[in-house]
Parts: sequence; structure tokens; C-alpha cells
Amino acid sequence: MHCVEFRTAVSARVDGEELPPGISDATLDSHLRGCAECCHWDERARRLKLLTAAFDLG
Ligand SMILES: [Zn+2]
Repeated sequence: MHCVEFRTAVSARVDGEELPPGISDATLDSHLRGCAECCHWDERARRLKLLTAAFDLG
């Protein structure tokens, strides 16, 4: 499985959407632990989500 597929899953999870077929939370987490680039992607996605949520409130 490629990083791009895990990043799609990261975005889905941050948005509270269903993970793509073939990727579970456990699969995603184990990839994030082993892949620094996707781990950073996950952090950025979460931060962006928080920022967006803050704007939605304001
Ligand atoms: Zn990766």
C-alpha cells in the first residue's frame, strides 16, 4: 500500500469520515508509527482541522 492511500485515510479520519476500504485504524496507526512523512501529514491535518473548527465557531 502506498503513502498516498494512507494520507487519504488520515484526511478521512480527521474529518470523521469512514476510512477507505482495506485500511483500518490499526493499519493506519502502524503505518504512521513507521513513516515519518505520513506522521507529519497526520499532525498537519489535525492542526488544520482544529484551526478550521476554531473559525467555524467564530
Ligand atoms: Zn507513509
